[in-house]
Amino acid sequence: MPPPGKLPDVAAAAGRFLKKWPARWKETDGRKKKKFYLLSGILAGGLLLLAGWYQFTAPNAWAVIINGRQVAVVTSRVDVNQVIQDVLKERGAGSYQGLQITDQVDYKKVRVNPREIVDGQQLKNILQGTLHFVAAATVITINGQPELIVRDDSIAEAVLAELKQAYLPLPGNGEIQEVRFLEQVAYEHRPARPEEILSPEAALARLKGTSPASQEYIVKEGDSLWTIAREHGLLVDDIRAANPEIKGERLDIGQRLRLTTEKPLLQVMVVYSQEVQEPVPYDVKVETNTDLLRGQERVKQAGSEGQRLVTYQVVTKNGVQVEKKVIQEQVLKEPVTKIVERGTRVVLASRGGSGRLAWPIRGSITSPYGYRGREFHSGMDIDGYVGQPVGAAEAGTVTFAGYDGGYGRMIAIDHGGGLVTRYAHLSGFNVRVGQQVSRGQVIGYVGVSGRTTGSHLHFEVLVNGSFRNPYGFLN
Ligand SMILES: [Zn+2]
Repeated sequence: MPPPGKLPDVAAAAGRFLKKWPARWKETDGRKKKKFYLLSGILAGGLLLLAGWYQFTAPNAWAVIINGRQVAVVTSRVDVNQVIQDVLKERGAGSYQGLQITDQVDYKKVRVNPREIVDGQQLKNILQGTLHFVAAATVITINGQPELIVRDDSIAEAVLAELKQAYLPLPGNGEIQEVRFLEQVAYEHRPARPEEILSPEAALARLKGTSPASQEYIVKEGDSLWTIAREHGLLVDDIRAANPEIKGERLDIGQRLRLTTEKPLLQVMVVYSQEVQEPVPYDVKVETNTDLLRGQERVKQAGSEGQRLVTYQVVTKNGVQVEKKVIQEQVLKEPVTKIVERGTRVVLASRGGSGRLAWPIRGSITSPYGYRGREFHSGMDIDGYVGQPVGAAEAGTVTFAGYDGGYGRMIAIDHGGGLVTRYAHLSGFNVRVGQQVSRGQVIGYVGVSGRTTGSHLHFEVLVNGSFRNPYGFLN
């Protein structure tokens, strides 16, 4: 089928004939000329009739047929191929590789009412809405799944490189050891429609998960909104928002749902090492000092932080740190241990000058410390009435509060530095074992428990486990 614009040209043949004609005419005689005139007249009349018939019945246009369907009628003056080229150009032929139409285009000579004939511009408009285009393209597959389409391999490479770049540590913040995708990335090549082909920016956004990726889900038996949401890492509300046609909980098997996720398609794992100067904390060492009072502290040596150069190996996934370990450490400056002296001296020698124990109760001494004949009295007895409050002779820790044979109800207080005081024959306790008490604090009450004949307080002082005369310690 010849394309329009190339109908057979009869004008040239006619021209050649007319050129030779005058010479022939001179050689012809009169009768022959008469006969010729007659024949010419008949011929001319016939031709005129023929021309008239042709005028009304012959094909006057070309039908343009796309995929077997007539879409337009044009005059022979319209170059349809050129119009198709123009349409391709407008669809962005320069932006795609080998953009072409996939349609079968045919032409047929037809006779139509001239009003049905369209011009080139109208044909272009019609073809723009009719033709189908494809271009060569690169499909990026992730774990074997085709995920997105770009124009060519070099754009795919550039997009993937930019994605890796986006998750690298800032310059100067580390030395990169490894950058890779956790997923398997590959390319496939196939023709694609221009609208399927993503720009590099759109492809990058999809890979990062910053632009929502839509996918279709077909409801199968046993599905519920909740199970679908869970399987796709979505919320039920996300699915409802994307599929407003869902009413209530009802889903039909075979129903198509749009699922929109903003999950990154690729995870970039980066391993890098990082050198950091860090302070090293100092230790605190406590030493006892018998010259200092109990509870007093003195800094013998100020501590100071050290400095170290640590090399960490850091692993990130899409910029989020998932691992950090020390691979090398160099001490630049040792820390200086802080030494604190803690006093252990109690009231024995002095307390506020006098350094004496307080009287647990006020009263007369009914039996002093020491030998009474052959019997040794390990404490001193102070007269008191049942229920009379007994005060601690000095601050300390209660180490005993209970019944102990001849002592009856007894309390022992450790004042530190080897000094212990004991209070016996009590009627009741006001403290528990382990309790810290202050000087003069009521610890219990005078009684008659244990081996005793009357109500009094048996008061003992021990230094490093040996009995001492309490009297010498009291104010
Ligand atoms: Zn006694």
